[in-house]
Amino acid sequence: MADVVLKNVQKSFARVKVIHGIDLDIRDGEFVVFVGPSGCGKSTLLRLIAGLEDITAGELFIGGDRVNDLVPAKRGIAMVFQSYALYPHMTVYDNMAFGLELAKSSKAEIDAKVREAARLLQIDSLLDRKPRQLSGGQRQRVAIGRAIVRDPKVFLFDEPLSNLDAALRVQTRIEIAKLHTDTRATMIYVTHDQVEAMTLADRIVVLNAGRIEQVGTPLELYHRPANLFVAGFIGSPQ
Ligand code: ADP
Ligand code: MG
Repeated sequence: MADVVLKNVQKSFARVKVIHGIDLDIRDGEFVVFVGPSGCGKSTLLRLIAGLEDITAGELFIGGDRVNDLVPAKRGIAMVFQSYALYPHMTVYDNMAFGLELAKSSKAEIDAKVREAARLLQIDSLLDRKPRQLSGGQRQRVAIGRAIVRDPKVFLFDEPLSNLDAALRVQTRIEIAKLHTDTRATMIYVTHDQVEAMTLADRIVVLNAGRIEQVGTPLELYHRPANLFVAGFIGSPQ
């Protein structure tokens, strides 16, 4: 069970409030997409869920446990960043194995998991390379592989496709959808791309200036946008 529940979650940076009391109930296994303009707080919200930032006020629950004070490694989550965030001096294999080594898994178990994820993502021939010897698409696969090997209950994706070219974007999007089908993990995915949101999401959360404008299925938002902002973002022409 890994539902993710936010109760009046707020975040300020140096007294400037950027997240204004978010209430949200994400079900176990759901694929939820956060959309909204640049600077509206999408990445901050993901980082709060991941534990990379402290919550200023409110409560966060993952799988029923209150995790406000829990370190990222103990939250059962894995995050994939837009910029890949690979270790440049390590091979692909070591990049994928690193988190498991920290968690003190056995060598055999690490090896099996890394090779299985590499096969799934078709990067098994690249395991000895360094990140600089890879294309952008290959790097993003390694970043996704690094998340997969940890068997997270919740995957967090922050604009994972935005550095890829159009064809690779479509292909990787399909692979992420398949990953969701295969793992049934909870997925929280940030994008500013309407097509990505409409095709991937069970539900879309439309954010604006640190607040939720509307939450609904892609069809609900498309046919019944709550206001002009949502309509402008994803709704049908009014
Ligand atoms: P988005 O991902 O939707 O583009 P962000 O979550 O990155 O938006 O940023 C939301 C707001 O919080 C922006 O105004 C941004 O400048 C501010 N912000 C984000 N991180 C920090 C930080 N570490 N220190 C100060 N302000 C920040
Ligand atoms: Mg962002």
